[in-house]
Amino acid sequence: MKLIIFLCLAVTGLTAQSKVAVVAGNNLAICADGLSSGECRYAQAGIKLSLKRLKPELSDWRFVVIDSRRWSSTCKKFKLDPCVPAFSDIDQHATYLISTLLVNNTRLDEDLQRYSNLTGQDRLDWVISHELGHILCATASERVAENASGKLRYSNRHQSGCKPQQSFAPAKGNRFAVTLAQ
Ligand SMILES: [Zn+2]
Repeated sequence: MKLIIFLCLAVTGLTAQSKVAVVAGNNLAICADGLSSGECRYAQAGIKLSLKRLKPELSDWRFVVIDSRRWSSTCKKFKLDPCVPAFSDIDQHATYLISTLLVNNTRLDEDLQRYSNLTGQDRLDWVISHELGHILCATASERVAENASGKLRYSNRHQSGCKPQQSFAPAKGNRFAVTLAQ
């Protein structure tokens, strides 16, 4: 599976509902408009569980869940092409996730098969750990990010192998976005 990252300039007008949950440390899981309260709670629980499993050295980060019906327009706002299921904006300290990664739906699950054979929480762990690899390692390299992802998922120490995020000062306006397959 090939993973590609690219930089993009983006302007976002995303608004988040007041469905905010504090998850591991100072990080937040937020649902954008369109998700029901039940879907939002389910999605937040998934993110919370992933962060509990991965134990990343990360703070002040937002994980924003976007309703799948609004994902296409979100990609357009971020000038994301191809429109991949997850990406991170380093400037905004935010990772954006399509809701189908979090809310069970068999048909939509099939759409995600081309990115990973994993399903459910394991797939979410992989997506989030991959994004964390980019974030914690301050890298656009898919190899480095995926290597860090493996360490976060499978090492008892849950360390990315990279320096903490404080060392990362991205250029203004540069945003990282990932594709999960090519
Ligand atoms: Zn990537």
